[in-house]
Amino acid sequence: MLDKILIANRGEIALRVLRACREMGIRTVAVHSTADREQQHVLLADETVCIGPPSSADSYLNMPAIISAAEVTNAKAIHPGYGFLSENADFAERVESSGFVFIGPRAETIRLMGDKVSAIRAMKEAGVPCVPGSGGPLGQNDKENLRLGREIGYPIIIKAAAGGGGRGMRVVHEESELLKAIDLTRSEAKSGFGDDTVYMERYLQNPRHVEIQVLADEHGNAIHLGERDCSMQRRHQKIIEEAPAPGISDEQRQHIGDICTQACQRINYRGAGTFEFLFEDGEFFFIEMNTRVQVEHPVTEMITGVDIVNQQIRIAAGEKLPYRQADIVVRGHAVECRINAEHPRTFVPSPGRINHYHAPGGPGIRVDSHLYSGYAVPPFYDSLVCKLIAHGETRASALNRMHTALGELVVEGIETNAELHRILVRDEAFRAGGTNIHYLEKKLANSTE
Ligand code: ADP
Repeated sequence: MLDKILIANRGEIALRVLRACREMGIRTVAVHSTADREQQHVLLADETVCIGPPSSADSYLNMPAIISAAEVTNAKAIHPGYGFLSENADFAERVESSGFVFIGPRAETIRLMGDKVSAIRAMKEAGVPCVPGSGGPLGQNDKENLRLGREIGYPIIIKAAAGGGGRGMRVVHEESELLKAIDLTRSEAKSGFGDDTVYMERYLQNPRHVEIQVLADEHGNAIHLGERDCSMQRRHQKIIEEAPAPGISDEQRQHIGDICTQACQRINYRGAGTFEFLFEDGEFFFIEMNTRVQVEHPVTEMITGVDIVNQQIRIAAGEKLPYRQADIVVRGHAVECRINAEHPRTFVPSPGRINHYHAPGGPGIRVDSHLYSGYAVPPFYDSLVCKLIAHGETRASALNRMHTALGELVVEGIETNAELHRILVRDEAFRAGGTNIHYLEKKLANSTE
């Protein structure tokens, strides 16, 4: 077994991994920047190593510093969390070639899925339904690109193969804008991701974002843990997630879930992963795969009882999955609200010291947060400070519990989006279920008019 794990991350996910390790009797090493000495997981870890100054580029993205920290502490494995180096194939490769276990898929799988063009190709071959599109990178031939555009049909979205975090995408409404849009997206992709490969696909007008969680071991076993609906988004960033997705039948879940587990076996997938789809008019369209644990994994844990981080560690240790598909039973409904340190109306980040923090509780409530009274949220990183998760026998009960929990939550000293969440969990259309990815932006636009 892996008796010591280095956690190459910060914030709530570092604490989440630390808790999983503790429960499994695994010792932990927390690496942190100089700005993060007071992180809750740093205070709780068995060993700590400062790996650099506040800037992520010099600390949480500093591969040599992280690998040296694993060497000096004699850690056996590295858990990358999400963000930072979690989907960096070169990092996974360097971790393994330095003699450590990377808790995630093989480097070659991360590379295959990290390039959206190669990911879509591989998924098509594996029988996964994809958005109608160019199917490959766009060339320099204007005529050919115009022909492709006509074939796909407008509106179209141009996307960077190396894009991520909602960046590197441009919507084109008519043919006259196409060539200029391709050029612009290319140059943005070049400067933003160091790779100017772009492709195009049909821009779906009113889709929902529905994703499938999978687990696969090294022995060829793969299962899915059902779906999550993450359609409540602002600027392509998820705000509320829930599982199961409203209105998806057992047959639909089983059908798309089976397609995903078969794809895992075909590409020899290892670890936890997520197939992201757009869902429109009853049809699934693959957009990308995330080869890591996701922010929203708790909602799946709440309805299936499977501890995804625990399974990631076991799979990395070479264990066989302890579940077959038939063992996975969905119970009730779970919702997650992402509480961000940000101004409630302008969404400008709001770092600072927390004078007072009080976490909600009660039946079905789970709080994944690194906050505590006296902790200062640094200005250098992501603004996610707390994930509130509510589980209930029914969706209505989960939403009611969430509303109560949001009312109990106290975060003083900084601004948060908690009030927006209180409004959203009471929103009539959201409560009816099935609102699409544009719903929140439209609602926000209407409320400021
Ligand atoms: P990223 O890797 O940056 O997260 P994704 O490919 O996952 O990019 O897309 C992020 C979001 O962009 C989706 O959740 C959806 O809101 C929107 N989007 C992406 N592709 C399309 C498309 N073909 N049609 C409509 N919306 C899309």
